[in-house]
Amino acid sequence: MLKVTFCGAARTVTGSLYYLEYQPKDGKNVQFCVDAGMFQIGRKINLYRINAFLLFDPKKVDFVLLTHGHLDHCGRLPYLVRMGFGGKIYTTPASKEIAAVVMHDAYKHQESPEFSEDSEWFEEDFLDGLGVGQKYADILEEVVKAQESAQALAQKYDFFKKLPDNYAKILNLLEKNEGKLFLYEKKDVDQTITRFKTYDYHQPFLVHPNLEVTFINSGHIFGSSYILLREKSTGRTVVFSGDVGNFHKPIIQDPEFIEPQPGLTHVFLESTYGDRLHPKTKPELQLRKIVHQALIRGGKVLIPAFSVERSQEIVYLLVELIRRNQLPPIPIYLDSPMAAAVTRTILKYPHLYDEEMLRLVHSGNHPLKSKYLHILETPEESKLLNNHTKPAVIIAGSGMLNGGRILKHLRFHIENPRNLIALSGFQAPGTLGRELLEGSKEVEIEGRLYQVKAEVVMLEGLSGHGDQQILKKWLFHLLPKTSTKPKPKVFLVHGEPKAASVLLQELQKSIQQIEVVWPEFGEQVVLWPD
Ligand SMILES: [Zn+2]
Repeated sequence: MLKVTFCGAARTVTGSLYYLEYQPKDGKNVQFCVDAGMFQIGRKINLYRINAFLLFDPKKVDFVLLTHGHLDHCGRLPYLVRMGFGGKIYTTPASKEIAAVVMHDAYKHQESPEFSEDSEWFEEDFLDGLGVGQKYADILEEVVKAQESAQALAQKYDFFKKLPDNYAKILNLLEKNEGKLFLYEKKDVDQTITRFKTYDYHQPFLVHPNLEVTFINSGHIFGSSYILLREKSTGRTVVFSGDVGNFHKPIIQDPEFIEPQPGLTHVFLESTYGDRLHPKTKPELQLRKIVHQALIRGGKVLIPAFSVERSQEIVYLLVELIRRNQLPPIPIYLDSPMAAAVTRTILKYPHLYDEEMLRLVHSGNHPLKSKYLHILETPEESKLLNNHTKPAVIIAGSGMLNGGRILKHLRFHIENPRNLIALSGFQAPGTLGRELLEGSKEVEIEGRLYQVKAEVVMLEGLSGHGDQQILKKWLFHLLPKTSTKPKPKVFLVHGEPKAASVLLQELQKSIQQIEVVWPEFGEQVVLWPD
């Protein structure tokens, strides 16, 4: 028997965590997780409680399979370790390194007040704004009160019966940590990193005498993979998409399509952009245009960017524009210790580069080693940038402006109409990035109000996720070529309700040989009944 409990990324995009229980007819029972990601929603929210809430006992988990190093996929690994998880974490070598950087950054953020303050996250309209279903909202609200009413919860919702008996105790205990709420500390992250065991793409390995796992390149970020889980005795196979990448991204290889899986029973398919077709625009053209505009005005370009890969992609595009004489040679400041660490990882794994990147490297034009690129790691280096009066591009985290060094640069530059702020990715509701995107004329940054006089634009065409067409193709490729009974079941995960429901309709209409479902938070499904 194989059973799953959806513990995150169900009807929302973050918190990826699937808990699986495998009970073979003969042989040992195992429990494991696929991903253990952090929920990230807006900025004035109680991230602690929602993340502390697990639907299983971490002590009983034998191992974890990790698709990639983004926070919403790996951010709760140290929490599992802290709560007693004692097994191995399997992933690719590059994912281990990216996850280490991301988890180290994550424990520091937990010291910020937003992480632990009680606030409005469970307010109805806020959750509606997130597109979170009412049931989910109800459950989360109950979770807030769980300290006092674990028993009441157990009666109300079936899946609360699965809670470890000591859940209320755990919450109490954590909250007494020197009066601070945090999921984990540095020592937990260090401990977590010792648990990793890595395998390259296409290198099958056993996690149980009867369960074989293979990682396949998902082309989403460095080291990212899809996971194939196959029962050796029967050939039954489950595929976890992780995040499916986009095509023609700088630096990394395109997503691989998985060959047809004759024993396929279930697919966990992400649906972040299930309702969208990416525009065919080339991001370098827009980047060139906006940097030119700012240069003509004598201003600077500020690019809030995610430290993991987006920053390096933008550096790549800018350096290439300069090399091809399509932009004047301007300094590019990458002001982020985290992006610096990710860049070091990227430099270590040239076998993961795509052809174009390899060509540049071999011709002595490595975009991440350009003389125009200045990587600033220390706070002192970052501060010196304030004295820089000439045109420049400053890239810094965080990508949604909900923290990080970009805020300091923003305070300095947002009230000058010569400057330009180029947002570079998804801006979640409740973030400063979203406020700017929606045209706010006045914003609060670190407790002070600022007039938005700099120009704000959105850089298009940089998405790290495949669109509806790519998701459909990806799924179609791995389906068995002859029809099977029962039909393989596709769980749409990692998507907000609108995106997932559009993809659901599209898949139902266009691919007859599957059944598509849209699981809820806490839902349990038996994948293999025997
Ligand atoms: Zn991701």
